[in-house]
Amino acid sequence: MRDVKKFLCVSCPVGCPLTVTLDDGVILSIEGNTCPLGEKYARTEVTNPVRTFTSTVRTDGGSLPVCPVRSRTPLPLSKIFDVAREVAKLNVRPPIEVGQTLIENVCGTGCDIIASRPLPKK
Ligand code: SF4
Repeated sequence: MRDVKKFLCVSCPVGCPLTVTLDDGVILSIEGNTCPLGEKYARTEVTNPVRTFTSTVRTDGGSLPVCPVRSRTPLPLSKIFDVAREVAKLNVRPPIEVGQTLIENVCGTGCDIIASRPLPKK
């Protein structure tokens, strides 16, 4: 069965409109990209979409009540809600360094959750 998917490339701020035509899940064509990154993004988006996860976690004795966090690398979109539930349980104790691993291999994704900024003690 033929299927046409349309979405924007988010690999850079240009935001090229992409059109991917599939037949029984097999990619027939990718149009609209103006560089190879767009083609790579389109292939990933229709086969195994990934996203960079961002959130905040509670702190215990930090200079701020919460610390911003993100995934070190993009992780499978299908796991985003599982990851959000896991991250919501976290309560970190400063001092925290930027890039410090807070959850290793979150939900078996092979991706770590790290601090997005340094956070000193109160
Ligand atoms: S296709 Fe290339 S130029 Fe267009 S948004 Fe994607 S990365 Fe940017």
